[in-house]
Amino acid sequence: MSNLWNAVEAAFRRLEATSGYEPRPVQREMARFVCERMEGKSTGLIEAPTGVGKSLAVLLPAIAYSLNEKRRLVVSTYTNVLAEQYWRKDLPFALSLFPNAPSAALAMGRNRYACLDAIRNNKMKATPVELAKFLHEWSSVAQEGVEAEWEEFLRRKAIPQPWKRDVWEQIAVPSACRARFCPYYQNCFYYQARRRAAEAAIVITNHAFVLTDALMREATEDSTSLLGEYDFLIIDEAHDMLDATTSALEFSIDAALLEKLIAHAATMMNQVSETLQAQDSAVGFTMSLQKLAQEFAGRCRDIVTVSNLPKILDTGIAVRVAPAELADMPALRTAFRPDLHPLVVQVAQSLQAEISNLLRETNQTYQTYKSQLTEREREATEATIQQFRVGFEQIYRSLGQLIEPSEGVCWVEPTANGWKACYAPLIVSGWLQEHLWSRQPSLLMSATLTVDGRFQFFEQQLGVQTPHKRILPQVFDYSRQCALYLPPSGVIPAPPANAHAPDAPIYYQRMAEQITQLLTLTQGRALVLFASRQEMQQVRQRMPPLPFRILMQGDGANADLSKQFREDVHSVLFGVRSFWTGFDAPGETLVNLILTRIPFEVPTTPLQRARQARYELQGEDAFRAWSLPMVKQQMRQGFGRLIRRSSDVGIVAILDPRVRERSYGREILNNLPHGIAIYDCLDALARWYELAIHAQGKTV
Ligand code: SF4
Repeated sequence: MSNLWNAVEAAFRRLEATSGYEPRPVQREMARFVCERMEGKSTGLIEAPTGVGKSLAVLLPAIAYSLNEKRRLVVSTYTNVLAEQYWRKDLPFALSLFPNAPSAALAMGRNRYACLDAIRNNKMKATPVELAKFLHEWSSVAQEGVEAEWEEFLRRKAIPQPWKRDVWEQIAVPSACRARFCPYYQNCFYYQARRRAAEAAIVITNHAFVLTDALMREATEDSTSLLGEYDFLIIDEAHDMLDATTSALEFSIDAALLEKLIAHAATMMNQVSETLQAQDSAVGFTMSLQKLAQEFAGRCRDIVTVSNLPKILDTGIAVRVAPAELADMPALRTAFRPDLHPLVVQVAQSLQAEISNLLRETNQTYQTYKSQLTEREREATEATIQQFRVGFEQIYRSLGQLIEPSEGVCWVEPTANGWKACYAPLIVSGWLQEHLWSRQPSLLMSATLTVDGRFQFFEQQLGVQTPHKRILPQVFDYSRQCALYLPPSGVIPAPPANAHAPDAPIYYQRMAEQITQLLTLTQGRALVLFASRQEMQQVRQRMPPLPFRILMQGDGANADLSKQFREDVHSVLFGVRSFWTGFDAPGETLVNLILTRIPFEVPTTPLQRARQARYELQGEDAFRAWSLPMVKQQMRQGFGRLIRRSSDVGIVAILDPRVRERSYGREILNNLPHGIAIYDCLDALARWYELAIHAQGKTV
């Protein structure tokens, strides 16, 4: 046996000695697989069903590896909430099983930390005096200065809800700042976290941060990094890596970008001004900088609002694709407007020109006043401008993707306030292979990495190539713990094309009736997952009053809604995409999971059309090569929300008639855990539920 495995075995023995721990052979099997990847410096894929205890199965080898081999590891998961769970719960427990502990740190994006400068210098807009007082108090007691800590503080102080809103946005660390020339730099939450992350042997973070780091290394040719060099990368919730990478690489010109550019320029000028001492020359310099920022803001606004795109468009349409042959494919042929691309180019190039002008004029202004500044002021000014330059250059480069997209699609679409131009990559596998997988060995894990029992779809989409793959067996007894309800044919009609289709009202009405019956059966305690917000609202409007609380996604922060759902046992949560994955509510608060519709993506968006065109160009069927594997994976994810522990029981209802009536419906069902009894009669389902609940020693 290897030294690494010996150390992990010893930790497992200590774990088994703790009360309440049930040994799980499958957890050890996973830990062994992870050890082999670390020792062999080889990448691995592992599908670990819910209940394996995968966090511990990777953290024990990670800790042993960093202690034995003096290696640095990064552990990434999809969301901030999951990363915090690793940091506050799983990692401390795993560390407690070792006699020595390696250094560890949590690293998240800038906007997850509070800026001391904003709080201490009262840079918040119109914040009530009392709330400002709380902010000052919190900033002097906070350990990490993260949003979760702030929210906990607010809860303890019983701060009124309206006060909470928007405060974080105002105190979050800006996209750039004067950094080491800030008077709070030494105690700055963000820079302290970065210093800890750069030195720690184990860093816990999220996918967005790992990808931002990879983008930064790419842009600066490896001269700048947030995470520093590391020897092994662990990606949990790896099924979300495709979405996370697409989001990291996509880019839009819209109102949000405009505000970001304007704020970046204004903050740069303010931060430079704040490094200067009050003196005549400094006042002149400051005023010139403020004028530059104001003129920049005015010109950028003119560029974005002057375009006449809104008059041309009433729906989104692709305007440029790469490779260019995609435009000739059936999926795009009738939905492609290359004549609109010059308008996008004009806007993107004008913004690029404004960014270049601003940086040049800022430098010229600085040169004019340079001789009148002290040496420290010169140093601070140059360092601050450089900090902001990196952000401007990133936007400049991204604007280039709208001018000449690389392996992607550029489209325009109307918005409530005007229009937006977007770029998204069509494939991310090459980029991930070059900038992530080729740099160090990685372990990618999730409860749903395979489609039809194979890793092929995941490997293709993410560009991972490895012979080391493992599918761990199911842990839960789904035949005992779960029943599946599919309504008989005709109860719910086929989903309408959109909310305005003639068949939409009857579809929503029938859906509302079925959901009402299912909620009555379990007295609430349900998670209802919809394919779109619109469908969720249409169905909700048609439901009668019920004797339990219905929480709707959008009525509050997801974290707050999740908490309320867990605390109020009979409550019901209506959610869309973000609740399909990663949501965890073990126990009797969730015994009824309703999946309203197979979550196919809307096929007529420019991005989906371009994806279809790409498959058509390769002679493949886009539905079978992309849409179907995606929904098989998402249905497995959604399904996985119900049974979180071996003591959980409950029902899953899939209300989409296509599961019964289309040939691919059987394929979707085959991807769910095996051995589940299927019911098409609500009375029979109610009897199963009653017996299952009684078997657990509970009452309905
Ligand atoms: S260093 Fe930057 S983020 Fe930190 S307190 Fe100062 S201005 Fe805020």
